[in-house]
Formats: sequence, structure tokens, C-alpha cells
Amino acid sequence: MNTALSIRNLCKTYSGGLEALRGVDLDVQEGDFYALLGPNGAGKSTLIGILTNLVRPTAGEIHVFGVDARAHPERARTLMGVVPQEFNFNVFEKTLEILVFQAGLYGIPRNVALPRAQELLERLGLGDQMNQIARHLSGGMKRRLMVARALVNAPRLLILDEPTAGVDIELRRGLWEILTDLNQKGTTIILTTHYLEEAEHLCRNLAIIDHGRILEQGPIQDLVRRLEMQTFILDLAAPATLEEPPAGFQVRPIDPSRLEIDVPGGLTLNQVFAALEACGVQVVSLRNKSNRLEELFVHLVGRGRQ
Ligand code: ADP
Ligand code: MG
Repeated sequence: MNTALSIRNLCKTYSGGLEALRGVDLDVQEGDFYALLGPNGAGKSTLIGILTNLVRPTAGEIHVFGVDARAHPERARTLMGVVPQEFNFNVFEKTLEILVFQAGLYGIPRNVALPRAQELLERLGLGDQMNQIARHLSGGMKRRLMVARALVNAPRLLILDEPTAGVDIELRRGLWEILTDLNQKGTTIILTTHYLEEAEHLCRNLAIIDHGRILEQGPIQDLVRRLEMQTFILDLAAPATLEEPPAGFQVRPIDPSRLEIDVPGGLTLNQVFAALEACGVQVVSLRNKSNRLEELFVHLVGRGRQ
């Protein structure tokens, strides 16, 4: 499988001395739908700014489909489409012209760009708005215009910076459908978000970023499973050695009269006790072992809401 994006040791220190990225490593495979999840100020937009050559990294390597993006930014740019966090089109231009102008930046001639722009606007539900001045579009239409514009150079990698921050549920679901469809047709997508729910709904793989560092990365299902898993420490009535661990649980002995047990989400403590009793183990007390990832998420979500 091809690697769509490979980032090694990416660092960015802003002029005031603030370290926005501190050695980020990231790999996104072709065809993936990848979430970069992190609270405000984590470094997400800085990372995207570097990919689009708007922010100069302090150190690090970036390859986009094998192209060294620092050595050949123009070549890398033709492979990517980016939807920035803020609307940044000319609001006094017509939607169709915004797309045709963007195509021109990629050297696509007007006679090729026009039908492509029309098709994209249709696809994003803006067919009736082609000759509308962008200023007159609703918020949701503006967001879709940004996506259409990012697709004008037929990018293999589409990157969206918090596309649904502050937008209503209906628009969010509409965008989710559009992105899922694009991904199914082969476009690799990277999305930054501070909504865990969004990442979970859309994406296959996830990196969690905070304070410029990647804290976790991997398949979302694995991370969510770890999130839902609770770990308990059990004190036993008598020292015991578990020859056969109870089915469905991960058990680790701490010492002869204490065990650590992972309990998948949805199971009750009574089920745990019953399973252990069936193995001849009597529990006298238990306590919750804190889950590092869970704490992290509480921390992330808490900060994201501020
Ligand atoms: P996110 O997009 O995850 O919210 P950003 O990448 O925008 O995070 O910001 C990461 C950190 O870098 C923040 O502390 C932010 O204040 C800081 N920062 C962003 N842009 C600049 C800049 N141009 N100059 C100085 N500091 C910046
Ligand atoms: Mg941002």
C-alpha cells in the first residue's frame, strides 16, 4: 500500500519561542480516512499550515505520495487539496469564478476548469448557486464551497481543518456524507477535529495531538476499545494462582493475593465476580485503576469545550 503522507520529527517553534510542534511523526496510508484529534492550541493548524507551505517548519521531513514536500513544495501541492479552518475566498466573487480562479493557480486552463467547476458545484449541492456572489451564500453553503474549491485540482489527499467546528448538526451530517463518499471513491482524507464523536463516526485511524506532541495513534476501534475498557485491582480472600483465566477477561497477577483485571465496556461487576468464582477465586474488595487514555480524553474534551 502507498503512503499518502509521511511526517518525521516535525518541529515548529514560533518566533516568540512557543513550541507548537515538538517532533511529530505521522503516517497516513493511501485510501485512509484519518483523524487528527486534539484540543484548541494542540498544533493541528500549524501542522496543516506546514503541509500547505504557509508555515515554515523549524525541522523535520514531509513526504506526500513520496514527494519531498520541503524540497518540492509545488509538486506536493498539486497532490493535495486543503480546506482551511477559516473562510478565505473572495466574498465578492461568484462561486463558479472562485473555483475557476483556484484551478488557474494549478495551471488548469479555463476551458478545462469550467466544466470541472460546474460538476463539483453540482456534486456539493451548489448547482443553483453557480452565479451567486459568495457573500450571499449561507454558512453551510460557504463551507461546501470551500470543499469544492479544495477538490478543483482533483487531489489524491484532501485535508480539512476543523470543517465542522461551530456548524449545526444538519450541516455536519451533510458534510460527513460528502466526505464519506469522496473517501469511498478513493480520496485519502485527513481531518482535524476536537470532537471525538466525529472522529469515531468517520475515520478509520486516529492520532491524538496535544501540546505539539502525538500522544496516541492507531486504529480508532482499538483506541475506543481501550477507552471503554476499565481496569480493576482485586484483593483476593486467599492467595490464588489462576491456571485458566476467566473467558473474556485479561487478568494479570500483581502478587499472590492481588489481581489486575481488564473489564470490557458493557459488562457488570457481578459478571466479573461470577467468572472469577467459577475459577475458584473469591474477591474481598476492589478498586478502579485509572485509565490513562480515559483521563486523557476527559482532559481533551474538557479543554475543547472551553
Ligand atoms: P490548533 O489548530 O490545534 O488549535 P494551532 O496550530 O493553531 O493549534 O496553535 C498551536 C500553538 O501555536 C498555540 O499555542 C498557538 O497559540 C500558537 N500559534 C499559532 N500560530 C502562531 C503564530 N503565528 N505565532 C505564534 N504562535 C502561534
Ligand atoms: Mg486550528
